Amino acid sequence: MSSSSFVTTHVLGFPRIGERRALKWAQERYWRGEIPRSALEHTASQIRSQYRNDYAAAHIDRPAAGEFSFYDHMADTALLFGQTPERFGALSNTIDALFILGRGQHSNGQNIAPLAMKKWFNSNYHYLVPELAADQPVRLDAERYLALVDEALAANPHAKPVLVGPLTFLYLSRGLDEAGRLAKADELAAAYHQLLSLLRDRGVTWVQIDEPILALDLPSAWLSAFEPTYHRLKVPGIRLLLTTYFGDINGNVSLAAQLPVDGLHIDATATADLIAVADRLPDYKVLSVGIIDGRSIWRANLATLLDRLEPVHARLGNRLWLAPSCSLLHVPVDAALETRLPTVIRDNLSYARQKLSELALLARGLNEGRSSIAAEIAAATAARAALDAAPGRHSAAVAAAVANIPHAEVQRSAPFAERAKAQQERFQLPAFPTTTIGSFPQTQEIRAARKAFKNAEISPAEYEAAMQAEIRHVIEVQERIGLDALVHGEAERNDMVEYFGEQLDGFAFTQEGWVQSYGSRCVKPPIIWGDVSRSQPMTVAWSRFAQSLSNKPVKGMLTGPVTILFWSFVRDDVPRETICYQIAEALRHEVNDLIAAGIGMIQVDEPAFREGLPLRKKDWARYLDWAVRAFKWSVKDAPIDVQIHTHMCYSEFNDIIESIAALDADVITIETTRSNMELLNAFADFAYPNAIGPGIYDIHAPQIPSSTEITPRVRLAMEKIPAERLWINPDCGLKTRTWAEVIPSLEAMVSSARELRKASA
Ligand code: GLN
Ligand code: ZN
Repeated sequence: MSSSSFVTTHVLGFPRIGERRALKWAQERYWRGEIPRSALEHTASQIRSQYRNDYAAAHIDRPAAGEFSFYDHMADTALLFGQTPERFGALSNTIDALFILGRGQHSNGQNIAPLAMKKWFNSNYHYLVPELAADQPVRLDAERYLALVDEALAANPHAKPVLVGPLTFLYLSRGLDEAGRLAKADELAAAYHQLLSLLRDRGVTWVQIDEPILALDLPSAWLSAFEPTYHRLKVPGIRLLLTTYFGDINGNVSLAAQLPVDGLHIDATATADLIAVADRLPDYKVLSVGIIDGRSIWRANLATLLDRLEPVHARLGNRLWLAPSCSLLHVPVDAALETRLPTVIRDNLSYARQKLSELALLARGLNEGRSSIAAEIAAATAARAALDAAPGRHSAAVAAAVANIPHAEVQRSAPFAERAKAQQERFQLPAFPTTTIGSFPQTQEIRAARKAFKNAEISPAEYEAAMQAEIRHVIEVQERIGLDALVHGEAERNDMVEYFGEQLDGFAFTQEGWVQSYGSRCVKPPIIWGDVSRSQPMTVAWSRFAQSLSNKPVKGMLTGPVTILFWSFVRDDVPRETICYQIAEALRHEVNDLIAAGIGMIQVDEPAFREGLPLRKKDWARYLDWAVRAFKWSVKDAPIDVQIHTHMCYSEFNDIIESIAALDADVITIETTRSNMELLNAFADFAYPNAIGPGIYDIHAPQIPSSTEITPRVRLAMEKIPAERLWINPDCGLKTRTWAEVIPSLEAMVSSARELRKASA
């Protein structure tokens, strides 16, 4: 094959956290004042130099540059263009300014709130939401960015600087309405032009510009803004690669193909017909095919991917570029660090480093023919075949149980009104019943006990005694404060998903499978690799013990099927909905065992319910159908006098309120304080039929609320929800707070409830 058909490999971005979360440890030490900024910067520069070595080892032609962030790329973009809220005063583009945007600031005795956080599309990464003001001029402040680019260029002159695209930046910002944000596009584009010229002067030839909003159902005003904006970005000598990811761009292919850019990157994991896109592209443009799933931890099936790529390569020749589908930010760094997983799983993992090698192999397979990588193809195929044949991968019993779940609506045995009556007879709750979301402070001692047990330093009996002592304490405190529906406190849980995963079949746990969630926070999702089932009760002993200590109801506490699914890395050989049903079936057995043990209230938490919603509206109905059914299946056997609770937080309910109602939980507790009860409007407008506990204080802040703060919030809620269906509770679980914060806060909450009961008696 002639060199004119050689494909180019590139990468959209790499995990910033570094091996073994090096950045996190440095950030947090810097924030505590334990190390100087130079030490933090040194760690970061080592991380970057490490991944530049990885790029070089895999012969990546055009590695990403300038995309490294000390906290978040959206906040970095805000600083790059001088778009920071007035409350912080003048901020220039420094690392410390970035930390202020992310973490807030205490100045002159006042707390200045950080930028809000939101989920980055349908990923589990949270970005900082830039706040715009109409009268704030755009001001390029590029020194820090250019230094990163220079560093990358010194190592590889073909490095490709990365920028968040101007329209994605504006679309995802707040502070101005749509028209106001669009009105900034021209001025912002001019600053991008200025920056691109500076890059050109440094010898840069290609720049990656990320416009993932093209994968959304974008309002037409935004679509129309692309052409004029990108015309303003034209800089002679600079070629732009426009990237989209997390979805297909089919609806917008002609738009993207016609824009004055030199290349288009698409997410091949979400695009069925690659040839159709290739054929629409003018013949001077390159097509970057995001062939390796940038959000999956599984080793690629090289043979299948080559099947897809070869026809595109035949069409495009050297106009074909290859990359992971999105930034590798969303996968952990290096699967080689996993030493404890069973070999059959380890052999099938691919984290960021492994994905670079896979990319290089695919390029070779195209450039030199499949036979040049025959051994690697065979190894990948064999590894996968071993996994597929591993005991636990497929269980006939699980398949049969899931086949039992009907396609029709799953319902409890009686409608809400009837259940509510039976439950009231059983529990005799006062008006405005009070409760909490589940967890109580996770103290040092609790963590130490869990760790000692895990390391076999204390016996099971000693561990059980330590946990029981904690449960006893939590119950006593709640009784003393006067709460109505109690909880056992979740002391035995390190994490609400991992706890269940560890007891279910089909899960595996990594040592170094960390991905950034926000700032220095990382999560380590469990891996669902086999059919999920439950071999024994998971929570019953703790719940039974807790209930034995009180005459008040103690809620059994479970994590719901949708949340367990979305907060795990899932297998790729079975549809998500099937896995969700498997988990629901396992939870159904747990619910039934709790009921048999005398537990009368059971909470099934679903904080990830909204997050699972697909990006495109056309896909919503299907997701909501199986997500709702899975939840309902797990609780369907509950007799009418068993009260099912659920909890969701950080969710925008407007779009999905019908499905929330369809869950038919007897009580839903939600987070509402930060929006000053505005999130309740969705429930009010829809005339939500069941009981609701709007959170009446923000547990994410250390401040202790008083009842003079709480009572008006409940009154506001009473304007929206009939008092007889209103519960009173905090926004979320209390595990991140201290006892000193929790006790007076709950006392204030209970005293508000009593005050309201008196007023309405
Ligand atoms: N029951 C859990 C807790 O209280 C719920 C946590 C959550 O909503 N993320 O911690
Ligand atoms: Zn919550």
